[in-house]
Amino acid sequence: MVRTVVVTVGDELLLGDTIDSNAARIGRALGELGAPVLRRETVGDEKAAIAGAVERALADGDLVVVTGGLGPTPDDLTREAVADLLGRPLRRDATVEEALRARYRSAGYKDLPETNLRQAMVPEGATVLPNERGTAPGLALEHEGSWVVLLQGVPRELEGMLAGPVRELVQRAFGDRLRAPLHRRLHTTGIAESKLAERVEALLPAHRGPVRLAYLPSLRGVDLRFTVGGETDPAEARAWLDRMESALTELEGYFYAGDDLVEALARTLDESGRTLAVAESCTGGLIAKRLTDRPGSSRWFLGGVVAYADRAKVDQLGVPPDVLARVGAVSEEVARAMADGARRAFGAFAGIGITGIAGPTGGTTEKPVGTVWYAVSVGDRVEAEKRVFMGDREAVRERSAQAALNLLYRTLRGPT
Ligand code: ATP
Ligand code: MG
Repeated sequence: MVRTVVVTVGDELLLGDTIDSNAARIGRALGELGAPVLRRETVGDEKAAIAGAVERALADGDLVVVTGGLGPTPDDLTREAVADLLGRPLRRDATVEEALRARYRSAGYKDLPETNLRQAMVPEGATVLPNERGTAPGLALEHEGSWVVLLQGVPRELEGMLAGPVRELVQRAFGDRLRAPLHRRLHTTGIAESKLAERVEALLPAHRGPVRLAYLPSLRGVDLRFTVGGETDPAEARAWLDRMESALTELEGYFYAGDDLVEALARTLDESGRTLAVAESCTGGLIAKRLTDRPGSSRWFLGGVVAYADRAKVDQLGVPPDVLARVGAVSEEVARAMADGARRAFGAFAGIGITGIAGPTGGTTEKPVGTVWYAVSVGDRVEAEKRVFMGDREAVRERSAQAALNLLYRTLRGPT
């Protein structure tokens, strides 16, 4: 195994001005590579603090990844701190210097600003990791069989480094000591986390060998992530994951393929050459937005109406005014009429209608905040559902958009 320890540097991280998303990026990238992160520490822009953290990291890490503080300004101290700690004097590297000068000239500067020369300083014996997305290169130092890698704080630059030079370095340095875990992620929607957990725990075999299971809830559903650590033989790991997945076939009705329900829905529509139109009230265009976020959606998405006022529901979608007056805008009848109206207005095969109370105001005892009616009109069939969603305005809108998309997905796939 290769154990990685992460050190993130920056006063802004300690103060909470910046969320330490780099630690997450490193955790993901190195975990996938088979060098999982064991521990992480955050320190401020202070030389002694950085050196202390790197020293502690080296005590139990085979690989120490440091981000932040590689820039040209006086508060960027990582390079100096690590060079001192490991007893590697800093020298100006002619190749790095020339690359910096070229980069500045091509950006329209006359020459390299004096302060940026600090970025050409390389600790003795260090490997320079080219940074295609910025000025300062990354640095890697071998120390008593371990490696210390210094990386940029700017997230975009860090991502480029992790995907390219760091990956190559880690593979070169640790080779067959890397043990990548195997994951299988099942996406569910339309079932609450606790209910899902109850059913999953009842269906899975009691003995799960090396498999770990995590429930990952979001506003759009709950993902199940099965993991087998890299110490298990890959073929055996896959067999374990297959066993877990097949134990859950009974829950198939809640699963969807792909990372997003819209992806699954798009495939279903595309394959059958069918088209869709939407009529949205409480979601205010969110469903149309999600559909059109997908490249190629023009093949199957015809358009939508945001019908917020009663008047718009009548004029744009043909919702009968007497129905609106009798049962109110948030009702089964109106959701059905909206779905049907959207389908007819656009000449689509399928229509979605959605109407609800996103809150925080507007609720009544009969129709509390979170009450949403949504319907799908497919061919000559109209299906409607009501839910009372929890959460704030954003949560209600996000959850209800997902529920309406899911109803359509199930209706299109189910027996007609
Ligand atoms: P620069 O050359 O821009 O000075 P640097 O390597 O010195 O880069 P920092 O100065 O520490 O990096 O940070 C640069 C930017 O990246 C800052 O805007 C900071 O908010 C962001 N950043 C730094 N560390 C992190 C982190 N751990 N998570 C997310 N963003 C970060
Ligand atoms: Mg900086």
